[in-house]
Formats: sequence, C-alpha cells, structure tokens
Amino acid sequence: MTVSLDLNTAARNLPDTPKGLIGLTREKMATQLSDDFGLDSKQARMRTSQIFRWLYNFGVTDFGSMSNVSKNLKASLTQRYGQLSEIARPEIAERQISTDGTRKYLLRFAPGIEAECVFIPDVGRSGALCVSSQVGCTLNCTFCHTGTQKLVRNLTPAEIVGQVMVVKDDLEEWPSTEHGRQLTNIVFMGMGEPLYNLDNVSEAIEIISDNEGLGISRRRITVSTSGIVPEMERLGEETQAMLAISLHATNDDLRDVLVPINRKYPLAQLLEACRTYPGVSNARRITFEYVMLKGVNDSKAEARKLVSLLKGIPAKINLIPFNPWPDSPYECSDWETIEEFADIVNRAGYASPIRTPRGRDIAAACGQLKTESIKQRASERRKEALT
Ligand code: SAH
Ligand code: SF4
Repeated sequence: MTVSLDLNTAARNLPDTPKGLIGLTREKMATQLSDDFGLDSKQARMRTSQIFRWLYNFGVTDFGSMSNVSKNLKASLTQRYGQLSEIARPEIAERQISTDGTRKYLLRFAPGIEAECVFIPDVGRSGALCVSSQVGCTLNCTFCHTGTQKLVRNLTPAEIVGQVMVVKDDLEEWPSTEHGRQLTNIVFMGMGEPLYNLDNVSEAIEIISDNEGLGISRRRITVSTSGIVPEMERLGEETQAMLAISLHATNDDLRDVLVPINRKYPLAQLLEACRTYPGVSNARRITFEYVMLKGVNDSKAEARKLVSLLKGIPAKINLIPFNPWPDSPYECSDWETIEEFADIVNRAGYASPIRTPRGRDIAAACGQLKTESIKQRASERRKEALT
C-alpha cells in the first residue's frame, strides 16, 4: 500500500511533456512569447493569434510552414521549441478499429504514462471523441474498469488537446474550419474524473473551443462527472460546457456502493448543484447517465423514482447498457427490462435514449478503458532496483 501511494505521488510530480506551445491558452502563450523573445504585449498577442491558427486550424507540425510568420521568428521558434511534430502529438502506441467504425487509441504521453481515447462516428458526418482527463482514477466505482486502476497522474492541457490533434491527424480532418468534419463533439468520458483535474480540463476546453483553435463549440463539449459537487459551479462558469452526471442509482444506499464518492456528496447535494448549474435551461439540459445493471438498479420502481428525483431539472436520461470487463461483478440488464425502464422515463416526458454499445469488440465502450501504466511503472522500478 505504502509503495503504491509513493508511486502515485512521485508520478504526479513528474515533469510533463517538454515545454512547448501546445496546450497553452492564448494568454499563457502570449506571456511565454514575451518572456522568450522579448515581444511587447501587442506583438505577442498578434503572434499568438497567428500561431494558434497554424497549430489548431491547420494542424501544421513544423514552424517552417507558418508562412505569415517572419523568417527570423520561425527560426527562433524552431530553435527554442524544436520540431513541433516531436512535442505536439502524443505517440500512438496502439490503434484498433471496431467493426462498427469506432476507433480506440492507446496514447503514450511519456514513458509509462498511457491513456486511451475513443472516436465514435455517428450517422452522417458527425462523431464524438471521448477523451481522458487522467491516467487511472482515484475513485472506485464498482462497475467501472478504470476504477480498478489507481491514479497515475493528471493529464496536462497539452495532453488533453493532444488527444484531439492526434485523432484529427488520423482522420485527416485539417483544416479545422472546413465543413464536413467528422469529429464534431468532445466528451470527457474516457479515463479519469475531469472535476479532479479541472484547471487543466478548463484550459484544454478553452483551446478546443477557440475559433482560431480547434473550433469545436462549447455546446458540443460535454464533461461527465461522478458528482464532485464543490467543483460543478466552477465548471459551468469557466467552461460553459454541457454537463453529464453519472447517476446510476436513485437512493443513497445503492449509490454509496456503485459510486462511492456519493458518501461524501450524497444525492440531495448533487441534485441541488444540478438545479443551480450555471446556464442550465431547456435548451441546455443536463444529461443523466444511468448504467443498467441486472437486478441491481433496473426495476420499474427505480424508473419511477428516477423521474421524481429529477423533477424541475431540465434533463435527458441516457440509459447505458452495462459493458462487461474481465471479472466485473455485474451483468447487463435484459434488453426487455431496459426498454420497460426507458418507457417509464419517456412517458414522464424525458428523452431517454438507450445508448447503443459501441466498439465492444475492441473493449472501447464506456467503462472498459484501462491501461497498464501502473504495472509498467512498477516493473520498471523492480528492474531498476535489481540493477
Ligand atoms: N469519471 C467520469 C467520466 C468518465 S466515466 C464519470 O464517472 O462520469 C464515463 C461514463 O462511463 C460514466 O457515466 C460512467 O459511469 C460510465 N461507465 C463506467 N463504467 C461503465 C461500464 N462498465 N459500462 C457502462 N458504462 C460505464
Ligand atoms: Fe472514475 Fe468515472 Fe470510472 Fe467512477 S466511473 S471510477 S469516476 S472513471
């Protein structure tokens, strides 16, 4: 136990990816350009704007291609930050494509620091990228595979934005401004609890949603949380992102087991924070995620209780068939039970889509993500100890 705690702390304090420009908000980039090259603030803002467009609208991977940047500055940028291609993109350690078109990427940010992201194409030309906010998770929701992996560390803004960029490379979706892009939405539903890494998530959203950045509007960015109540208001105010709540139970006794953070922030507090979430309205409804676990939370009485709990909150309810993982302690509810549950919720006036499991054949579905990061780190340490 002591060893793993030490490992976690040490890993969280590791230096991030080499200091570069990717992942800096406009304000931070302008300050860095001033510091590094002695530009005055007006110059720095103008250069930031140009560099933003090249990096995020066009996806260039070398400073040499930034044709409206002066020759001298291009040379200085290259000298100071090296080749963008080396620092701007995480390495794709593995890529799998499901029979349904879902693409799962295992990304390596630094040795032993790996996380997954999943691209889920929708009908027509749209699709969502499910990004990770942490390597592992500190919470232990009992139905979630990531929850069995300890937290290795938070991902930096550069590493979160890097997930979007690497997938855009793979889908050949540059420039970002072109119509008909398939990567239209971002969901923070990969590994980790985004509200325990809100500073970095918030900066990443700033870059992703910037028109000269990746140009994905805040209304198409959804942050999913297990219910870290004290951070919810700041999330809404700083990011104006859409909110999804991992609810999964309609009473505290059961939610304490399924989503143990409920013991700290019980249902009444969580729902109150939803009622007052900044910007919530019928046009900006909160999504409640409800994983369907056979014989655990799927009765008709619970469907009715769910409806009464959410009274007064502009909401839609996403029913997620449980995705199994090796040795998982639950089973997915029968299809018929899920449909009956959906009917009750639907008749009460809530949209209640049943989420079709995507990418199950490559273990890319919700809650199936887990990397070997900790194991690798532990074995690396053992190797070091032996030599
Ligand atoms: N930590 C955040 C975001 C990541 S989890 C959160 O908990 O909301 C993303 C979603 O996948 C959550 O709604 C989570 O409850 C759900 N999920 C986790 N494991 C699952 C599984 N095995 N089957 C189906 N959904 C799962
Ligand atoms: Fe962490 Fe979310 Fe999984 Fe819970 S469901 S263990 S909060 S990633």
